[in-house]
Amino acid sequence: MSEKPYKLILLGLPIIVFLFAVSPYQFQHAWQSSYTYAGSPAVFEAMPAITMTNETNETSSVPLSSDVVKITPQPALSDRIVDYHIQVNLNEELRVLEGEEVITWRNPGKKQVQEMYLNLYANAFKSPQTTFMKESGGQLRGDSATTNSEGYIELTSLETLQGDNLLPRVKFVSPDDQNEHDYTVATFRLIEPVAPGQEVTLRLKFEVKLPEVFARMGYSGDFIMGGQWFPKVAAYETASSHNKEEGWRVHQYHGNSEFYSNFGVYSVKIHVPEHYVVAGTGMLTKVASLGKGRKMLSFYAEDVHDFAFAASPNFVTHEASFSSEGIPGVKIKLYVDKEHEALSERYLHAARSALNYYGKFYGTYPYSTLSIVVPPKGASGAGGMEYPTLITALAADQENPGYELERTVVHEIGHQYWYGIVANNEFEEAWLDEAFTSYAEEKVMEHAYGVKTDHRIEASYMTNPAPLKLNAWEYNDHTHYAENVYIRGKLLLLDIEQIIGSDQMTKVLRTYFQTYQFKHPTTAQFQGVLEKVTKQSWQAYFDQHVYSDATNDLVISKIDKRQLTEMEKTIYEYTILLQQNSVVKRTIPIELVYENGSIVRKLWETGDEANLHFVERSEVPLLWIKLDPDQSNKLDTKLNNNFMRAELPEQERKAVTITASSLLDLLLRLLSW
Ligand SMILES: [Zn+2]
Repeated sequence: MSEKPYKLILLGLPIIVFLFAVSPYQFQHAWQSSYTYAGSPAVFEAMPAITMTNETNETSSVPLSSDVVKITPQPALSDRIVDYHIQVNLNEELRVLEGEEVITWRNPGKKQVQEMYLNLYANAFKSPQTTFMKESGGQLRGDSATTNSEGYIELTSLETLQGDNLLPRVKFVSPDDQNEHDYTVATFRLIEPVAPGQEVTLRLKFEVKLPEVFARMGYSGDFIMGGQWFPKVAAYETASSHNKEEGWRVHQYHGNSEFYSNFGVYSVKIHVPEHYVVAGTGMLTKVASLGKGRKMLSFYAEDVHDFAFAASPNFVTHEASFSSEGIPGVKIKLYVDKEHEALSERYLHAARSALNYYGKFYGTYPYSTLSIVVPPKGASGAGGMEYPTLITALAADQENPGYELERTVVHEIGHQYWYGIVANNEFEEAWLDEAFTSYAEEKVMEHAYGVKTDHRIEASYMTNPAPLKLNAWEYNDHTHYAENVYIRGKLLLLDIEQIIGSDQMTKVLRTYFQTYQFKHPTTAQFQGVLEKVTKQSWQAYFDQHVYSDATNDLVISKIDKRQLTEMEKTIYEYTILLQQNSVVKRTIPIELVYENGSIVRKLWETGDEANLHFVERSEVPLLWIKLDPDQSNKLDTKLNNNFMRAELPEQERKAVTITASSLLDLLLRLLSW
């Protein structure tokens, strides 16, 4: 099918089907709820009906105000810069989402704002020339684009509350790479600027053609993953919050990067066939029949920065309530296909284990729901992803998967704390999310399942270290991104833990979480917490290992051996040179393995010493020296130079008598122990 008739069908048919499906019921159902909303009532009382027009001039009015029953503001956990009210119809035949959206954006800064930025992330799939497709090569985490993986989002209407048409003002920009074929960032000029503290309300209509899923969002059979699917206001930062210039922090959809948005309130109504089961961010507040075999599900979420949903006629659901220290009470909801229902308890157990650990060690999970979506076989591209209060597990394609099932659930729930609640900028400082999540995941896997991670193997992956605080798309490729942002970043946190101890590390992470929850912190702010808790400067360490690419290579540089005779005894003397480049005080174990099987363990308190030159004397020949045999130094990526044989070469096996003064000299050299 060529592009043109395809587009006509996309534009015309879905609207007709949509209107046919919903017109007798209109959208007023969408705004009825027995749930008490915490949104801004003033906006809705003042808002006239949206009129939706299609090519046949049929209209469907959407009252937005009169049916909101009761509004009781709840204490906000976040600054709630942006509110979304979205109604979306899933056209399951065409795999199209037809949406109407009302965005209210409040200017949090000190400057007037007249240029607005919207992310239209689904345009990442628009053509092979988009920045995402070029950077990813149409592949993500082993899943590849199919011939059906083109998709897009089209803004069909953009108006102010007063009815001014802003659509002609929309232009696409590519701030990161100037790619003229990328349509993931739209900008337009408002008619009036938004003064500090004031707000603007925009009404939009849009259509999303879902791609066959290979990268987070799209369809697979009749499974739908709605991620990054609606027009979304870019993040806005104030100068005070980040010591940067106030303004928009807007980026395109990249091959490696994830996302970044401000917090707000989401009220989302999803129209689907009656027999579909839908998981969504936040609380399901109402299910209403629309007749003609369709229904509407209302979701509501406060203090989140995104909204995702998954829909399928094949989901079965399981629920469990859970509370523990830091978890006041959460309903865990599992969505899995019937063939894999037998695994339900494993998913739920993993979720409980994760919440139990994170709640105890980091802080309160402030939401009342947590949904786990298990994508069906074939939809692995949608799996292993985090959204606020909703995660996707690995796609179910085995009857009895290994611990990867638990690990993925534990990891994605870890994201609820870092990506979800702390909410750093994932475009610019992805490690603050992925490394912290990987660290937390490892703790739970060990704690709850006894699964230990081999850090030597992980360290050996780090073939190409890079700074941790890079824009996500500046890493060479996905492997380079992953080995640094996930693995090197996690090993760095474990390294800090080795230096300061587990209790202090827990205190650092807990303080960081509690200080910066809902505040979008930066690497510098994490460093600040670390320094405050440990009462020492970490600047040199961060300069070396975070802001630049240094690993911390421990090296046995040299072993010089001699055989001496002293008081008629044979003495073996080894002069050993060790090197390290850590700038912080740390303790490095050294193991000396002797020919008779005895092992002597020593500790090197480095201070800021780069070299240790010492002499070891023994009546028994030394076989091996092992430097940091348990890899307490997590940033050592070259482990082959941590071991050296100490056998005596033939020519050096000559008797040397040492004097008392040289013995003293040797002892003096050992003072750094
Ligand atoms: Zn992750």
